[in-house]
Amino acid sequence: MNDLSEFFGRRIPARQVMPALGDGQVAVQRVGRRYRCQRCQQWVQPEDRLPNGAWYCRHCLQLGRVTSQTKLYTIPEPNRFTIPPAPILTWTGKLSDDQQRAARAVRDLTQRKQNQLLWAVTGAGKTEIVYPALAWALARGWRVAWVSPRVDVCLELAPRIRQAFAAVSQCLLYGEQPLPYAYSQLTVCTTHQLLRFERAFDWIIVDEVDAFPLTTSPLLQDAITRAEKTTGCHLYLTATPGEALQRQIRRHEVATTYLPLRYHGFLLPRLQLRLAWRWRAALVKSQLPRGLQRQVLAYARVGQRFLLFVPHVRALEPVMAALARLAIRNGVSVHAADPDRTAKVQALRDKRVDFLVTTTILERGVTFPAIAVIVLGGDDPIFSTAALVQIAGRAGRHADFPAGEVTCYAQSQTRTIHRAQRMIDQLNRQGRRQGGRRP
Ligand SMILES: [Zn+2]
Repeated sequence: MNDLSEFFGRRIPARQVMPALGDGQVAVQRVGRRYRCQRCQQWVQPEDRLPNGAWYCRHCLQLGRVTSQTKLYTIPEPNRFTIPPAPILTWTGKLSDDQQRAARAVRDLTQRKQNQLLWAVTGAGKTEIVYPALAWALARGWRVAWVSPRVDVCLELAPRIRQAFAAVSQCLLYGEQPLPYAYSQLTVCTTHQLLRFERAFDWIIVDEVDAFPLTTSPLLQDAITRAEKTTGCHLYLTATPGEALQRQIRRHEVATTYLPLRYHGFLLPRLQLRLAWRWRAALVKSQLPRGLQRQVLAYARVGQRFLLFVPHVRALEPVMAALARLAIRNGVSVHAADPDRTAKVQALRDKRVDFLVTTTILERGVTFPAIAVIVLGGDDPIFSTAALVQIAGRAGRHADFPAGEVTCYAQSQTRTIHRAQRMIDQLNRQGRRQGGRRP
């Protein structure tokens, strides 16, 4: 007897034909004059043809190739779970008063099956705020997905959620994971992995909803919609809603719960702008702005660890060289494709190195207790408003070190930098209303 549970609420190719699955659906189908992938709903290009004549989809190739000769099979989601005995929530931490208020609001909206947004400033503990609602949903037998466009977020999240809901069946899915799929009540995965699901989830929590590539990818936005049951609902989590989401909030199209203060109750560090004339040209000669040089030397003297963000991978080497000339050597550089990325981040966490020079990959999800943050070239288009707010949010996350300096070096004050400063000020204004303190 084959275990059919891997087809529950999913749309996947079968390794062999199983009568119990019905006829299945051809994965790449002819629609009019063109071919369309039924897994990711994208159109197939005329040149995407195999030597045997089959059409294949390159858009979702990373999930395994599907062709006009592949069939996708599905079994409607039966919610066949053994609900663990109460209390389902095995997390023993405590929510602050602010968090509790937000948690209650999120749970109420969930119980009413409303689509909603939790706008919580970076470091507000938004994960834990969702726990009471999630416990309620799981007790009801809901199938839930907690997804993020970012693998790092999934990897950081999965072990925490596993502990917080110890008796609930769970699985983690992302690009190159070594674990096989298991039918589970709670799935933590990247948004890409949702392409394998269909009408599976009663509730989808989208973490970092404004993060790349979700914001720019209709394919992924579509994947969320299709993975949600027609009777389901979703919760968006963000620290920096993009323009489109802000519009929805203003028009009251999405129920919004707001948490402007971090768990320790301090206001956000402000983003300090320092003008650096022709930093780009200087960088080519491995030179750093004067102010930045003084700043890192001062940090080195007092043992202040720091993150230095640069706009591009090619800036890493000249910055490292410039720091070395200042005798600031106990650090490493890291970028998205770096195979040692995780180890390097850990080295900073363990205080084995004093600084990391990094591209924007570290803007979210990564926490260091007492870190100063520097952005070199904040006027570069790679730094969006959201990215700058997120980067600033890396600082001051620990109650013993809430001040955390954030300095942005740029040739000029750009609209993006100004918007980021304004968003932080706006959050702090709301935070003060809820009793937030200045660090
Ligand atoms: Zn496809």
